[in-house]
Amino acid sequence: MTDPRRAIPRTDRLLALPAVERARERLAENVIRVVIAEAQGAARRGELEPDGVAARVAADLATRGSSTLRPVLNATGVVVHTNLGRAPLSAAAVDALLAASGYVDVELDLRTGTRSKRGLGARAALLAACPAADEALVVNNGAAALVLATTALAAGREVVVSRGELIEIGAGFRLPDLIASTGARLREVGTTNRTHLRDYADAIGPDTGCLLKVHPSNFRVEGFTSGVSVAELAPLAAERGVPLIVDLGSGLLAPDPLLPDEPDAATTLAAGADAVTASGDKLLGGPQAGILLGRSEIVTRLARHPLARAVRADKLALAALEATVTGAAPPVTVALHADPARLRERVERLAEAVDGTVVAHDGRVGGGGAPGVPLPGWAVRLPAAAAPLLRSGHPAVLPRVHDGVCLVDPRCVPESEDGRLTAAVVAAVDRL
Ligand SMILES: *Cc1c(COP(=O)(O)O)cnc(C)c1O
Repeated sequence: MTDPRRAIPRTDRLLALPAVERARERLAENVIRVVIAEAQGAARRGELEPDGVAARVAADLATRGSSTLRPVLNATGVVVHTNLGRAPLSAAAVDALLAASGYVDVELDLRTGTRSKRGLGARAALLAACPAADEALVVNNGAAALVLATTALAAGREVVVSRGELIEIGAGFRLPDLIASTGARLREVGTTNRTHLRDYADAIGPDTGCLLKVHPSNFRVEGFTSGVSVAELAPLAAERGVPLIVDLGSGLLAPDPLLPDEPDAATTLAAGADAVTASGDKLLGGPQAGILLGRSEIVTRLARHPLARAVRADKLALAALEATVTGAAPPVTVALHADPARLRERVERLAEAVDGTVVAHDGRVGGGGAPGVPLPGWAVRLPAAAAPLLRSGHPAVLPRVHDGVCLVDPRCVPESEDGRLTAAVVAAVDRL
């Protein structure tokens, strides 16, 4: 008897298959070879008939995407979901991003044919949306904006900051460590629950590089507390000639009545901050980016610092950010302001299709924003066992698992996706 493994097609034969030829337009040669080796391996282990190898290779190549990142329907009710990449982009931002994916005039003046400044469109959009700022700079992310500000203003000197604002922003990243990494020294003032204006006044000296206020976005201290507002701190900063920087975190450019405790750039600058830093992919609803807005003199100083080059935003982020700011309300804003009555109709339709129970369910801002602010809405309640089936389905759906049940909340699912959401939930429930 001949060894059936000798019937396994050889690599050169498989490489010549028409399906492989077609896959070469999308996939790198090494990826194709790995797919072939995996199919041959399966046949060698007896998991696949030798004459099924070619078909397996063709099928695997056909379903192989260009990225292993899988789109997910966010059924958690958490709007800015860090594990899901924070803000989903608006249609306008996606268009802009695609348009910018080839050669673009990101640093070129097409009229004169000479070099221009990078990111002028995003800068203009931000200044138009936040007239309280004289100058804007876009960098890689919120943390980079903060690092750039403290490096340029206070490396080798002191950053005066309240002990109540020394926060951890997630996954073990702590602002005090971040600031210390820039070579600036933290000059902590006040206590965890109370900081007074005189604490700042006593700490300012010849070594002060800047005053920093950080919005403690992911927690709240309640009870016997007091902090010093930007409006109270600004005159002191001006009198002593030190810049006042405010890390807003969330990226609201203007106040949102739904989130009364969430600081915004316009109000904070009007209250006297010299510059604010924020993320592009939280409440602003755009791509990952760090946004610096403020007085010309300060922002220009940061832009000219050598570190600015190391944290600069790429053309895709600049394009998507500009489109987010100038376009219609992005998905984050739509989900935040979703009408509970409309959510209820959608949930009822879904519950009917899958024989689930409609329950009241509060959404959350997420992304370390507006802790404790519930967003009233509805969800379909399913057994907890549905959750892993939903996550591994097509499309993948991430529900919320809470108190031993699985909750499917459509707040963050675009209405145009309701058909796919229903089909995915039906398929998961069928497998229960
Ligand atoms: C989120 C956040 C940051 C970090 O911003 P990234 O865009 O994640 O780098 C910094 N400060 C505050 C207050 C934040 O909420």
